[in-house]
Amino acid sequence: MKSIICVLLLTTSAIWIEAKRERYDEYTVYRIKPKNEAQMKLIDELGKNEGVDLWTKVRQSYVDIMISPKQKQRFHEFVEKHDLDISVFIENGQKLIDDEVKVNKPNHRIGLEFNFLYYYRLDVIYRHLYKLEAQYPDIAKVVTIGKSYEGRKIKGLHISRKQNTRTIIIEGGIHAREWIAPATTMFILSRVLNNSNLNQQNLFDEFNWYIFPVVNPDGYEYTHTTDRLWRKTRQPNNGSRCFGTDGNRNFDFHWREIGVSSDPCSETYGGPSAFSEPETRALSDFIKSQKDNLWMYVAFHSYSQLLLFPYGYTSEHAENNDDLQSIGNAASMALFTRFNTSYVVGSVYETIYGASGSSMDWVLGVVKTPLSFTYELRDKGRFGFLLPSNQITPCGKEIVDSFEALISQAEKLGY
Ligand SMILES: [Zn+2]
Repeated sequence: MKSIICVLLLTTSAIWIEAKRERYDEYTVYRIKPKNEAQMKLIDELGKNEGVDLWTKVRQSYVDIMISPKQKQRFHEFVEKHDLDISVFIENGQKLIDDEVKVNKPNHRIGLEFNFLYYYRLDVIYRHLYKLEAQYPDIAKVVTIGKSYEGRKIKGLHISRKQNTRTIIIEGGIHAREWIAPATTMFILSRVLNNSNLNQQNLFDEFNWYIFPVVNPDGYEYTHTTDRLWRKTRQPNNGSRCFGTDGNRNFDFHWREIGVSSDPCSETYGGPSAFSEPETRALSDFIKSQKDNLWMYVAFHSYSQLLLFPYGYTSEHAENNDDLQSIGNAASMALFTRFNTSYVVGSVYETIYGASGSSMDWVLGVVKTPLSFTYELRDKGRFGFLLPSNQITPCGKEIVDSFEALISQAEKLGY
């Protein structure tokens, strides 16, 4: 009898958890190709409505936008009225999420090997960091830089083979739903520790690395348990029913000036004040503490296949714009060599559109570290944020190749 009750309880609780999940049945992702600046402004405005979610930033080349079933009629009227050029990219969001759940079934039992076949929960990622620390006791150490709003620790791995050398900081997962970002930072971390390519290993050995795979742990966990397409942090907003702030609009450099919302319900809400989020405070405090030796900063996002550099807040060029372009081009060429994956290189403002308050802009503008980059990883919209986990390894390999070029070209230019 007891076991029957037990089974019943388990079944009902599983159903309850399932029912609580956000669903995206018949949510459709459209690609819009704006014909002019006026259409770009219109799309930007459209993105502010409920049931409308901009998957990419608004830009000249294309904009991907997810529309809820309720909004579809209005959307089609809008398209008709303004003569927009649209095509369907993802017919039914829920189907891709279901496909991902079917495939992404890592076994979370303690002791099982972490690998690059799956997307993992936070605890598995952190457990792996400790395992690597134990495996490489002389060079690897787990560091904790602070806590999220819900009290999760923000952990990373410090890898250093030499004393007092140049530091590279890598950040992943500030946007929760971009799962390929934490996975890729873990991949880089594995290759910094152990690389069969000796040129890469020798080059990487010269640096002091701090790699933080999940800087928005609350959001990341929420995408696993409740809403696969959650982007922001999870701090409640005073006087609003909507939670969270866009961590990559929350840094204190031209905060909330452009490409950012003051509406707490928006996906790009910049927060009530700069550094309002414990996560961005922790990360920025840590970066400042490394200021003297900080040589390069790299943030990982998805998707669109872009390698971006400052600035996002203005069309004006950074002082070292030409160097950043040359370094980015070298990295993009090296990346292309392996699987013919193409990445576009440029400043945020010129490549996408204005967006202020990012960690990358802040690192160059405030910390004054001249080498500051952002990768927007795979793909170009076929799966968008729902990139299948069998792409983690190829994505990781080409990114590590690009990293080698990113560093070598910067050295060649005298950095
Ligand atoms: Zn992002």
